[in-house]
Amino acid sequence: MGLFGGTFDPVHFGHLRLAEESIGHLGLGRVRWIPAGQPPHRGMPQVTAAQRLEMVLRSTAENDHFSVDPSEVDTAEPSYTVHTLERLRRELGAEQSLVLLVGADAFAGLSSWYRWRDLFALAHIAVSHRPGFPVEVASLPHELATEFNDRRQADAACLKASPAGSVVTFAMTQLAISATQIRKLLSNGLSARYLLPDSVLDYINLHQLYKK
Ligand code: ATP
Repeated sequence: MGLFGGTFDPVHFGHLRLAEESIGHLGLGRVRWIPAGQPPHRGMPQVTAAQRLEMVLRSTAENDHFSVDPSEVDTAEPSYTVHTLERLRRELGAEQSLVLLVGADAFAGLSSWYRWRDLFALAHIAVSHRPGFPVEVASLPHELATEFNDRRQADAACLKASPAGSVVTFAMTQLAISATQIRKLLSNGLSARYLLPDSVLDYINLHQLYKK
């Protein structure tokens, strides 16, 4: 099972392709999307957590391989990935293979996450990167580079062989879309069409989100 966390402020086609391509590249049965509640790493998002959740629900509704986990949104606690993984372990058992999906940019900051080393005991980590630009070990913080080198496996088959502990990488279609760019476009009254699903854009327009 893939686990895909993010602020999704708002969700866009970069997120959707990461989740979709991870299924094929990593042999995942499904991907559980986990919108962050109150992200500990950044300022408060401009829209409510419930609204971000709703946008993720709309964008994933028609994909049978996707499900959405509202647990981080439903709690007032700050969302730490390690707590979410601990809860999922209790829910799904020790044997279930869990694969945390992260983009290369998010992975590069992993060693700043709360109790980051504990993540490896709870899940595998799959890092997506641009085609032709593999994860550069030299650019990672030293401690993270060491974990990456020790845990890295070339074959995604390792993800099925054990419940947690490996790191794999995979190339995905490059879509230089960011939620920051979308928020900027919308706040300047410009079109964000074709960067995110129409169903999400309709919701944004309906609720007048990301307006200046
Ligand atoms: P922001 O611009 O607000 O920082 P974002 O677009 O990077 O947001 P997040 O919700 O912070 O989106 O990202 C969730 C996950 O999706 C992260 O692992 C990130 O690396 C990945 N991701 C974001 N945008 C893309 C993209 N265009 N292609 C592939 N992965 C992406």
